[in-house]
Amino acid sequence: MAMTSRPKRGVPEGLWMRCPQCKATIFRKEAESRFNVCPECNYHFYVPARDRIAQLLDEESFEEWFTDLRPTDPLEFKDRMPYAERLKAEQAKTGMLDAAVVGKGYIRGRPVIFGVTDFAFMAGSMGSVVGEKLTRAAEEATRLKLPLIFVSGSGGGARMQEGILSLMQMAKVSAALGRYDRAGGLYISILTNPTMGGVAASFALQGDITLAEPGALIGFAGKRTIWATVRLELPEGFQTSEFLLRHGFVDRIVHRKDLRTEVARIVDFCEH
Ligand SMILES: [Zn+2]
Repeated sequence: MAMTSRPKRGVPEGLWMRCPQCKATIFRKEAESRFNVCPECNYHFYVPARDRIAQLLDEESFEEWFTDLRPTDPLEFKDRMPYAERLKAEQAKTGMLDAAVVGKGYIRGRPVIFGVTDFAFMAGSMGSVVGEKLTRAAEEATRLKLPLIFVSGSGGGARMQEGILSLMQMAKVSAALGRYDRAGGLYISILTNPTMGGVAASFALQGDITLAEPGALIGFAGKRTIWATVRLELPEGFQTSEFLLRHGFVDRIVHRKDLRTEVARIVDFCEH
């Protein structure tokens, strides 16, 4: 449950961008034409929710649901700035009301219920709106008997500014996924960089199939927090997709350009 106090990561402006992994200066258009992946080293850059939908779902197939849900500030919480003001600033910055988008779409012609969290909005943290949207998506998937796909881009975990109301979302969405599972539903969870805290501790790691993008940071508490709490030195790269694949936490690592085909294949395999 990391605080969202660091500077926001977004896609910087300009024709050129620097890859944080290989340090190469790359032409932005070229990275964009490769699904926002570094052409030199395959580093997977941040992708906004809208672009993710365009990359993964069939063109013009997405129907967004529950667009009227907006966050409130029942605790009148204040850290460096009042939560109500922070929400307004984040909404202005991202054009989103909160960090999740859900709805129905098609993946290579297969109908699916789809949800995605966006790191740009308060680090993709799960407050009441994110929890409610994902829960309703799981309930609709149950009712319509359709596969459920969630893409996590949530470095923020639970949203501390909503206190217990945020923590409750972990139980609520988990319960909805449990009912969906008992009804025989197929839930594919796609982990992207970063997936941490209360998001990793709930829906993101409850998939029937767990896919991860290469090099994604995935874990509960970060390295510094673990050191500060229990003085434990952790192995190099222990919270990466690759480490988690070796240890059975992740089923498959999939390059972003292959995700759509891979998800369609899994749906076919499981549904027939
Ligand atoms: Zn690179």
